Amino acid sequence: RTSAEASLASSRESSTSGVGNLPYRVIMLGAAGVGKSSLISQFMTSEYLHAYDTSLDDEFGEKAVSVLLDGEESELSFIDHPTSEMSPENCITTYEPHAYVVVYSVAERESKLAAEETLQFLWKTASVGTKAVILVGNKTDLVRSRVVTTEEGKTLATSYDCKFIETSVAINHNVDELLVGTLTQIRLKLQDPER
Ligand code: GDP
Repeated sequence: RTSAEASLASSRESSTSGVGNLPYRVIMLGAAGVGKSSLISQFMTSEYLHAYDTSLDDEFGEKAVSVLLDGEESELSFIDHPTSEMSPENCITTYEPHAYVVVYSVAERESKLAAEETLQFLWKTASVGTKAVILVGNKTDLVRSRVVTTEEGKTLATSYDCKFIETSVAINHNVDELLVGTLTQIRLKLQDPER
C-alpha cells in the first residue's frame, strides 16, 4: 500500500487527538451546493482557531487546523465530501471519521431529503450513538426563499438522535458555534460513546 494509505490507516488506530497527535476527522456530507466548502473556509477564520494551520493534505482534500477550546487544544481535520465522485456511503467507510456534519440548505427541500437519507444510513451503520453527528440547516440568510422551517430541522435531528444547528455562512451566523459544537460532541462521545 502507499504511504498515504498507511498514514490514513495509522490515523484510524488513534482515538485521541491534540498537539503532537493525529487529528479528529470531521466529514462534511450533504448535497452539492449546500455550503459545505463555504463552511470549512469560514471555520478557517474562527477566533477559536489556534494561530497555526497544521497541515494541508491535498491528496485527501483534508484541511487540518488546531482549535483551542476550554483550555485544551485539539486538531481537527475537515473532509469535504466530493459529492460527484463518491457516494456518502463510500465516503463514510473510506474515512471512518470521528464526526459527521450533515448539511442541507433551508432554501432547498431536495437537500433536506438528501440529508435525511444520509442520517438513515448513519443510523443503520450504528454511527449515530457512538460518533458525533450534527445536522446543519445552512443559508438562513435566504429568508424569503426559505422552504424548510427550523421546526422541521429540529424534528429531523430529534428523530435521529443527533444535534441540530442552523447557520449562515453569508452573514457568519452560528458558524463558530458549529465548529465549537462539533469539537464538544467529539470529546463527549469519546468519553462516553452512548451519550
Ligand atoms: P458545497 O457544494 O456544499 O461545498 O457548496 P459551496 O460551499 O460551494 O456553496 C455553494 C454556493 O452557495 C456558493 O455560491 C456559496 O457562496 C453559496 N453559499 C454557501 N453558504 C451560503 C449561505 O449561508 N448563504 C447564502 N446565501 N449562500 C451561501
